[in-house]
Amino acid sequence: MDFSLPQDSTSQTFLSVSVIRAGEFFIPDEEVFDDSISTDRNSPNKAGSKVPSFAFLLEHPTYGKLLFDLGLRKHGAGYPPMMKEDLELFVVDCEEDIVDQLKKGNIEPEHVNAIIYSHLHFDHVGDLTPFPHATLVVSEEVVPLLKDAYPAGNSYLMAFPQGQTVRYLSFTEEEASVRGHMPPSKLITPLGPFGRALDLFSDGSFYILDAPGHMEGHIMGLVRVAPNKFILLAADCCHHRECFDSSAVPDGKLRVISRHNYARWDVAKESVTRLTRIHENPDVVVVLAHDARRLEEGMPLFPHRITSWVLDETERKIAKC
Ligand SMILES: [Zn+2]
Repeated sequence: MDFSLPQDSTSQTFLSVSVIRAGEFFIPDEEVFDDSISTDRNSPNKAGSKVPSFAFLLEHPTYGKLLFDLGLRKHGAGYPPMMKEDLELFVVDCEEDIVDQLKKGNIEPEHVNAIIYSHLHFDHVGDLTPFPHATLVVSEEVVPLLKDAYPAGNSYLMAFPQGQTVRYLSFTEEEASVRGHMPPSKLITPLGPFGRALDLFSDGSFYILDAPGHMEGHIMGLVRVAPNKFILLAADCCHHRECFDSSAVPDGKLRVISRHNYARWDVAKESVTRLTRIHENPDVVVVLAHDARRLEEGMPLFPHRITSWVLDETERKIAKC
């Protein structure tokens, strides 16, 4: 590990984080591992597993409540018609969506100031309509994807609701303009093994990492939850722990991500290499959007906060070293 992460400042702000299981769906192994792709085109490998879609509630002492991704739509309903075939394959199971779960914890949608999208796939974007007042934060690289968005167009992507304030992130110095409820951010090049990052609140509490390859505009969130301790909201940088954590693979050899599920496979493999490197830092706990093992391991879910679990995980990582 030949990099360091930005250190705490003297009056460092930390975020509290809760994990929300915003539905589940079936993911075929062929979409996860390259070694699972059937060599016979006429008989695909039907194996796969049911995985959660994790979304995250972040609370900043000044800027309030933010969500990182929204997970799946309730009962898998309301997706663009172009998604029909995909939805049959992925079998969405979402009895209670993120709004239902937040309400159970006494959080109403209007309490949420901003929603950050890691990327625009159906299992991350959920339903924006309960959040008309929230600023949507998303990479500017998604703009061309929305050209033919549903319902005006016939793409598999949904247009953002009219009137939604959208802040398009770019990894440039010009990013420092104020939009919506949020302060200017600060460009950091590099941040650890990642080439580009934005310090979203310019206070070191939350970094957006550029993690390209899976889909245009794919970003991750690195959150400082305690003194020099981080949780990395790794979204779909890869879809299984065995792709970045060699201690999770029986023979210790990392598995290669599926060429079927990454828009730019070579670029995505580079992002996974960077993920592998940041994971080697014991102060960083990586949570992929669909890591079912996290539930088996007892990762606490909303309304619980995750800080003490992150601290325990970092202790376990140090003990393993
Ligand atoms: Zn995705």
